[in-house]
Amino acid sequence: MSKKLLLKDAHIEGIRYFETYRKQGGYTAAEKALKMTPDEILEEVKASGLRGRGGAGFPTGMKWSFLAKPEGVPRHLVVNADESEPGTFKDRYLMEFLPHLLIEGMLISSYCLGSNTSYIYIRGEYSWIPDILEEAIEEAKAAGFLGKNILGTGFDLEIYVQRGGGAYICGEETALLESLEGKRGNPRLKPPFPAVKGLWERPTVVNNVESIAAIVPIIDITGAEYAKIGVGRSTGTKLISACGNINKPGVYEIDMTITVEEFIYSDEYCGGIKDGKRLKACIPGGSSVPIVPANLLLRTVNGEPRYMNYESLADGGFATGTMMGSGGFIVLDEDQCIVEHTMTLARFYNHESCGQCTPCREGTGWMYKILKKIEKGEGKMEDIDLLWDIQRKIEGNTICPLGDAAAWPVAAAIRHFRDEFEWHIKNPELSQTQNYGLANY
Ligand code: SF4
Repeated sequence: MSKKLLLKDAHIEGIRYFETYRKQGGYTAAEKALKMTPDEILEEVKASGLRGRGGAGFPTGMKWSFLAKPEGVPRHLVVNADESEPGTFKDRYLMEFLPHLLIEGMLISSYCLGSNTSYIYIRGEYSWIPDILEEAIEEAKAAGFLGKNILGTGFDLEIYVQRGGGAYICGEETALLESLEGKRGNPRLKPPFPAVKGLWERPTVVNNVESIAAIVPIIDITGAEYAKIGVGRSTGTKLISACGNINKPGVYEIDMTITVEEFIYSDEYCGGIKDGKRLKACIPGGSSVPIVPANLLLRTVNGEPRYMNYESLADGGFATGTMMGSGGFIVLDEDQCIVEHTMTLARFYNHESCGQCTPCREGTGWMYKILKKIEKGEGKMEDIDLLWDIQRKIEGNTICPLGDAAAWPVAAAIRHFRDEFEWHIKNPELSQTQNYGLANY
């Protein structure tokens, strides 16, 4: 049984409301933090080893320590709730059922960072959640945990919720800041980084919802105790949104010591593959991370069990490993067509490209067209090499990571499932009516 830090009270009726949350010990971490100095809080966050839960896995304490503090210039905390990565829905769960956990985390984080005005930027499609967050903000304010002179400490904090317009690219932190400033959400060139010039050119920390929620247990139990949970540099707990061909899709909190096999087949988590079918492949960290076939998903190339943590999932690099990413765990059974699946993702990235850089703007559309051709049984063998070439020319040559995110799924699909691409090309008459299946994997 995994230790629960974030979701331990999620089952309690009414936990969404201040009164119930408070009764369960809510806001005691904030009370504790407000008696500490900002530097002491920063040291706890560093000691916890918390890594950003949005996808990149960058150490949160280090990110906070980069925040510039020029005299007289306001600083901001912006919570990235633009959760749009296909397969990822863990932040939605946190905001919907535990809004006060996020508000409490924001209070502690804002105090530590010196932000008196903080923001939650939420994806437009989560249309019902801003009301939940705004209600929680009002409740916290009425109880003295937001607003002026919080708990008599002299610290002021206002939190605003900003709805996005439904663009995936606004999950990229600089595009998010552009959008928050009221402009088109185009990613900025870096440097300067947001920690130096962020929102309205002021020093800004942008963190994922789960990262900020995790600050509450870190202060509660101390950074050192938090670091004892998990393994190696994968400390604490991690939320995983599991979906696809499994018996129990949902959001799970794991402590990163369990194996991938246990996560997929145990009744505590995914409950096995639906209808007793066989596992074909998995994308364990949201649509942008490399797909891995079942054999490399459950075991590394050395035959070691693969674990649900940052290091083990990446073991072998992009050739045989994958990434923890945002924790969007997408399971594919034996009936799924990898070419069709890759084509669907390519269409998504093409649609969501902001169009600023040529490799991404042109390359994503080009990849989609070729994949569509192959999937329809109209491809040629040389199309596979062309696809490989295009993705190579996108990766690392764009302003923001969307280019890489579009390239990696194509690269991994060709690397691991080339036979299936060839089968579509060699069997045009079958490719519309049958699946390649698992025969050769
Ligand atoms: Fe826009 Fe794509 Fe370039 Fe990112 S990589 S800035 S989404 S064109």
